[in-house]
Amino acid sequence: RKSVIRITTGSQALDELLGGGIETLQITEAFGEFRSGKTQIAHTLCVSTQLPVSMHGGNGKVAYIDTEGTFRPDRIVPIAERFGMDASAVLDNIIYARAYTYEHQYNLLLALAAKMSEEPFRLLIVDSVIALFRVDFSGRGELAERQQKLAQMLSRLTKIAEEFNVAVYMTNQVIADPGGGMFISDPKKPAGGHVLAHAATVRLMLRKGKGEQRVCKIFDAPNLPESEAVFQITPGGVAD
Ligand code: ATP
Ligand code: MG
Repeated sequence: RKSVIRITTGSQALDELLGGGIETLQITEAFGEFRSGKTQIAHTLCVSTQLPVSMHGGNGKVAYIDTEGTFRPDRIVPIAERFGMDASAVLDNIIYARAYTYEHQYNLLLALAAKMSEEPFRLLIVDSVIALFRVDFSGRGELAERQQKLAQMLSRLTKIAEEFNVAVYMTNQVIADPGGGMFISDPKKPAGGHVLAHAATVRLMLRKGKGEQRVCKIFDAPNLPESEAVFQITPGGVAD
């Protein structure tokens, strides 16, 4: 039986909210408005995953599927330095792929799974998991098919997490929630409906605070306390 590894986000407050960090064998979803920090968390995890377990890392490689073209290798350098790691070695251990269609995204997952059976990976990032689906199935009558294909992709992510003891970190978009009611000041909800809600083990709702501050709340977990974590986005990545 594989044992769970918890990987630090770079912020102690956020780690505590998560019960120690993002977990292998699970899917962690982050959603929130633009600039809320979803991609910056991904960049920080690219580095922290490579730390030894004794330093709250995962001692493993990272696979990064980018659907929006927002991965920045340059951004990895100061984050690696902040953690006292060699930036070029860290970059060498990030297997990066840009996906252009939902089918391409799925095929990349299959190829990465093959790689994971040969090398020790501890993190798979999909940023964003849903963007290409929203583009490729944008017609009104296409929602049912979109959800079916999305479910297929998510079940593949679950298999990868469990088979290779990998943490999956996926980002999601927010959409207007017409059912949110007139008493909710900012009626937004995560995209992807029930299919996405059921696939994610942990759902993180991010929002902007003052300046570089960000606020994270666990979404839709009735068994967890309604607590929030405040963190910062710094040149060295996510921090307290
Ligand atoms: P989107 O929905 O557009 O993808 P996102 O949630 O992925 O948004 P991020 O790209 O993670 O948002 O966050 C962008 C924010 O991170 C910037 O607005 C800035 O506040 C902060 N940021 C980015 N780079 C740095 C840096 N080098 N130093 C400090 N803060 C930074
Ligand atoms: Mg982003």
